[in-house]
Amino acid sequence: MSQKEETKMEKIISLSKRRGFVYQGSEIYGGLGGTWDYGPLGVALKNNIKDLWRKKFVSSRTDMYEVDAAILMNSKVWEASGHVAGFSDPLVECGKCHHRFRTDQLEDTKKCPDCGGNLGESRQFNMMFETQIGAMEDSSATVYLRPETAQGVFVNFKNVVDSFHPKLPFGIAQIGKAFRNEITPRDFIFRVREFEQMEIEYFIRPEDWEKYFIYFKDVVTEFVEELGLDMNLVHEIEIGDGDRAHYSKRTIDFEFEYPFGQKELFGLAYRGSFDLDNHKLEYIDEEMKEKIVPHVIEPSMGVDRMLLALLLSAYKEDLPAQSGEQNNETRSYLAFKPNVAPVICAVSPLVKNKPELVDQARIVYGMLKAEFGRVMWDDNGNIGKRYRRQDEIGTPWCVVVDYDTLTDECVTIRDRDTGVQERIKKSEIIDYIKEKLA
Ligand code: ATP
Repeated sequence: MSQKEETKMEKIISLSKRRGFVYQGSEIYGGLGGTWDYGPLGVALKNNIKDLWRKKFVSSRTDMYEVDAAILMNSKVWEASGHVAGFSDPLVECGKCHHRFRTDQLEDTKKCPDCGGNLGESRQFNMMFETQIGAMEDSSATVYLRPETAQGVFVNFKNVVDSFHPKLPFGIAQIGKAFRNEITPRDFIFRVREFEQMEIEYFIRPEDWEKYFIYFKDVVTEFVEELGLDMNLVHEIEIGDGDRAHYSKRTIDFEFEYPFGQKELFGLAYRGSFDLDNHKLEYIDEEMKEKIVPHVIEPSMGVDRMLLALLLSAYKEDLPAQSGEQNNETRSYLAFKPNVAPVICAVSPLVKNKPELVDQARIVYGMLKAEFGRVMWDDNGNIGKRYRRQDEIGTPWCVVVDYDTLTDECVTIRDRDTGVQERIKKSEIIDYIKEKLA
């Protein structure tokens, strides 16, 4: 397939693999469905998303407490939460090729879309991964890999209250892995079997729920805008009465226009007292001298879906005529905001076989690395190739040390989006970048 015929998703998937963002899970053994591995740049991007989330929702606030609960939890948690009985999708199997499908995703529920064979009866398939704990193999030793991080928060509600005595309203946040045995994992890292969530359970007085629902709707919108999502592609979908969970009086799905359709990116739900009731937990209000079961507002985001939406929002192509320095080829680049970009800045000597240039460039590299951390040394190929590589991974600035640097103490700093190059003093690069980051 030629470059031109590739779809945007194919371009993103191949860029992700080529440049070290996302690889197929267990690739050298043929892969494992619904699993993906993050390479060095993918990890950096994920960490930036998580750090910005943590900064916005936890560390900059006085009413949030973060926990990191175990992935393996007592099965009683999942019995109480309703997951053992009800966390399932409808499944049908083809009698001929034995491929399995989610019934609700089929147009024709009688005929196999792969081989045309007859589909069997639809049945409910529980999506939790089950395993055994310890050496015993009876049912008392059955545990589940958590399908959401939220229950890890609820089971620690009393612990956090007893340790910190927070006043209502307050929130408990958690970032961590979740596992779902999806019947049909698909669309790259959109629907996978192992993923990461960033969830907040915000505990409120029941009468305040509408106020805090609106408040979180605004804050989560602000967050994805600050991350750099293309807001024209983000849509708030109010979930109607018949489609919401029975305990929820209001739910909004924030959907993103992915190339494969407009799909849920993250959710905001009012969960009432459903979870604390299930776990028989309550709160004593010392001032009012009363026992209450707080209600919950839950903003719940998937890190992997967010990362994919960011890649899609940031991906840009310049026509050959617009990218003067690129030898008449189309230039592709990721226009990440600097605080999200996996690499803030790359440093190169103009040529790599001149020790005096390399020495100077190493000094500049050391200085920037100590200040910003996410700085890359890049001396492979000619300068045009390096710019192109850095554009593709979304590095906002490239700093080049050349022969003039040896006499005028200036370096060239090139901007990813405009291609414009400026000469600035070595001693001023840190301030130059800091100013742009602010
Ligand atoms: P969907 O309807 O797409 O299966 P969901 O409504 O079951 O999603 P939630 O249970 O609300 O999802 O989970 C909260 C968030 O976790 C989702 O908005 C999404 O960002 C993320 N998420 C859920 N399932 C997956 C998955 N299989 N792969 C990647 N991310 C997921």
